[in-house]
Amino acid sequence: MEVAGPPSERFRSYNKWLKEKFGERVYKVIVDAGFTCPNRDGTLAVGGCAYCNNSSFRPPSAIKTDPIRDQVREGIEYIRKRFDAKKYIVYFQPFSNTYAGVDALRRLYTGAIDHPDVVGLAIGTRPDCIDREKIAMIDELAQRTFVSLEYGAESIYDDTLRRVNRGHDYAAFRRAVEMTRGRSIHIGTHLVLGFPWETRDQWLGMADEMSRVGIDALKIHHLHIVRGTALAAEYARQPFRVLEYEEYLGLLCEFIERLDPRIVIERLVGEAPFGLLVAPNWGRNKNDLVRDINRKFEERDVWQGSRNRTAALD
Ligand code: SF4
Repeated sequence: MEVAGPPSERFRSYNKWLKEKFGERVYKVIVDAGFTCPNRDGTLAVGGCAYCNNSSFRPPSAIKTDPIRDQVREGIEYIRKRFDAKKYIVYFQPFSNTYAGVDALRRLYTGAIDHPDVVGLAIGTRPDCIDREKIAMIDELAQRTFVSLEYGAESIYDDTLRRVNRGHDYAAFRRAVEMTRGRSIHIGTHLVLGFPWETRDQWLGMADEMSRVGIDALKIHHLHIVRGTALAAEYARQPFRVLEYEEYLGLLCEFIERLDPRIVIERLVGEAPFGLLVAPNWGRNKNDLVRDINRKFEERDVWQGSRNRTAALD
């Protein structure tokens, strides 16, 4: 579909979207409810996904299992002092945050939204840790507050999911999205670009698939190897190709061009604390990447969805 001209923003950024929705910047408070995941507790496996080191995606302040209300209160106090923040989304991030019975989950989530300055919940989980009963309960909460349910897809290719010991196939993700669609829940997804055995066409094909499947938001991570993972051990034995910065920028640009412009982009790059990162070490941060990707969009005169066949930016 031909689109008339570039929108004011070349991609639909999550922060801006939240600002429009809530009238001001909204900050995430990460909490740790003490979950594990079936890929670590022996239900499916004990080693976990080949790239997973949970320490790499939660701040030290969240590595604790104090009551959720206390974590929310302390997290809010900390962020408020630093940024003069007023509104917050409580983010259940580490491990699989729907991996418990429905009553326990209800108590947990309800405790998190008790605070008057909390305007929403974000719940990260695996697509095989959800069922209709849990979704119905989460949907009830979504009548009261904003709720984003984030499913880790990581790849749409079963061969990759097997190779990284993900413990579920792509059909599990499709089923989870299907069960969640048509409710008040905002559906988020995580994807990884850059597994060395996948091709550029396969990465770009994921943009087409994400545009079809019916998600609302997407977190895009480049494959980065962090210490303490099976992938890091493999890389130490036999280094494999990881994406260079310019290569990733070009790929990302084309990926976003093909992505349905209604999908909110929550993340453009993977991040790991410096001490944990093995490769690739680009020496650039997230802000550099956002600046450079915008520059690339302008140079190429493209934008999110300018090559997508399903919809135009509204
Ligand atoms: S990435 Fe998620 S599902 Fe995989 S082992 Fe880590 S916590 Fe479990």
